[in-house]
Amino acid sequence: MAGRIRDEDVAYVREHSHIDDVVGDYVQLKGAGGGQKKGLCPFHDEKSPSFHVTPSKGYFHCFGCQTGGDVIAFLMKLEHLTFTETVERLAERIGYQLTYDSSGPSTPGINRSRLVAANTAAAKFYQEELGKPGPAQFGRDFLNGRGFDRAAAELFGVGYAPDEWDALYKHLSGLGYTDTELNTAGLIKEGSRGGFIDRYRNRLIWPVKDISGDVVGFGARKLASDEKDQGPKYLNTSETPLYKKSQLLYGLDMAKKEIAKKRQVVIVEGYTDVMAAHLAGVTTAVATCGTAFGDDHIRIIRRLLMDDDAFRGEVIFTFDGDAAGQKAALRAFDDDQKFVAQTFVAVAANGMDPCDLRQTGGDEAVRDLVARRVPLFEFAIKSVIAGYDTKTPEGRVSALNQVAPLISKIKDASLRPEYVRSVAAWLGMEVDVVTRAVKSSGPKGSHSNQPLLESRPSESVNLKDPILMLEREVLKVKLQVSELAAPWSELEPEVFTYAPYAALRARIDESPDQVITDLLDRTEDPDLRSLITELTVEPIRTDGEISERYIQSIFARLREVALSREIAEIKSTLQRLNPVENEAEYTETFTRLVGLEAKRRTQKELAIGEAL
Ligand SMILES: [Zn+2]
Repeated sequence: MAGRIRDEDVAYVREHSHIDDVVGDYVQLKGAGGGQKKGLCPFHDEKSPSFHVTPSKGYFHCFGCQTGGDVIAFLMKLEHLTFTETVERLAERIGYQLTYDSSGPSTPGINRSRLVAANTAAAKFYQEELGKPGPAQFGRDFLNGRGFDRAAAELFGVGYAPDEWDALYKHLSGLGYTDTELNTAGLIKEGSRGGFIDRYRNRLIWPVKDISGDVVGFGARKLASDEKDQGPKYLNTSETPLYKKSQLLYGLDMAKKEIAKKRQVVIVEGYTDVMAAHLAGVTTAVATCGTAFGDDHIRIIRRLLMDDDAFRGEVIFTFDGDAAGQKAALRAFDDDQKFVAQTFVAVAANGMDPCDLRQTGGDEAVRDLVARRVPLFEFAIKSVIAGYDTKTPEGRVSALNQVAPLISKIKDASLRPEYVRSVAAWLGMEVDVVTRAVKSSGPKGSHSNQPLLESRPSESVNLKDPILMLEREVLKVKLQVSELAAPWSELEPEVFTYAPYAALRARIDESPDQVITDLLDRTEDPDLRSLITELTVEPIRTDGEISERYIQSIFARLREVALSREIAEIKSTLQRLNPVENEAEYTETFTRLVGLEAKRRTQKELAIGEAL
């Protein structure tokens, strides 16, 4: 690691990175009133947005999972980066040159921007190689053979890794990249005779970009015959600090805006399918990079498909109709099925992939494939039925026995009768027969069709209680407009009755600078951290402006409430005291009571016109 990034630089980067822009790279944000924006939380699964961003304050908070913080916290958590990596990445984003304290260890560092730069330089190198005479012709032939001309190759930045041991290594070393950097980026590897060699040789190369468009790795297809090259057909960058295959979708940087606009994403299988789909006008196509489509992928996609207040949109898989695709579809019955209503399958009749289709049937055939999508359940059930000879009674009954348990597993109760009717039609059986088969194959007892809880209430106490709301308002004012919260220092010790609020007050008073970053830095308790960010973004409940008058009145009202509690206690103490036997104590308590009553009157006057 290089030395520590200077504090002033961290502060500069934090201040100049617009949180809504950074979040907007991952989450579709909509205006939520009061200068706030909201979207689907990237940290937990949800259908309606509880993830709020307050651009003017630079904070986010999710009311569903209670995650919150500033722009650095957001990126760190989402991309699983270290603090330093995150600041470097944000600095790169705003074109700011960081300086490091020399006090740290002085070995030349690995930082993200250097790795991205090395990858970008590699992509450019490969791209230039593709145009050269000689063996690169094999690469050009491969592309031409699949219907991709030069413009298509350029659009996707396709390149060629020359059939040499260290062409890229020499080139990048000449540009000043260190062995450690190139090795960490996965561009070179240790050779069997020591020293480094290129990772890809004599392969066609697709640069893989992350959602923001940075080149983070490569997919490389073998061009030589199997005898000459025993490596796998496709070679992908292995996991590196930049390349996390479970979170990458090839083509997403190009497709993300279209996915959000059209509320549709088409999942294809390979690099050439993504190219074919985009060129054919299916601009929402993406592919995984050498791994199965997983939970992380669906999370990324869902966030792009957010519409106003709900997830609405279509996820279309183009399986090639083979056993693996069918198995994947069948798995859907065991999943939580939260999004299955939006999941479709598009399979070409002849089992062709989009790349083949475009070559044989033109762009229209690819668009047609997507248009002819069927719901995932339908696809899965029909694939099972296809395994039986439904012309015979025995075949029909066997097929029904296989399909009935699947229907009973559909969690959406309104969909089950629909599929019962469809299956009856597909098998040519009576609806009653199918209904009985589904009933007897289902689990005992009725299905619960409870919607899944999307968010837990943040606390179990009644936060709508007017006093607690008042306590909350005062804390919000202190966190959001501290400069107007002058009466803070006069608050009575017992003014916050709800333990988390009291804890937050104590924490605020312990923080000398009383700024939120400082507050968060000093707070380890996740609940308290989450409360801090929550109250930092929750709008202050005033109809009009947040005026000094308004603030004065809510502070006064809160103090009045606290004083009333104290007065009630003192009065009950007085009742228990004997004014003759405990004369001194009685007099003292009585004097306190008079003092408190006077204070309360003042606060009551200040509180008049209070807006809560
Ligand atoms: Zn959340």
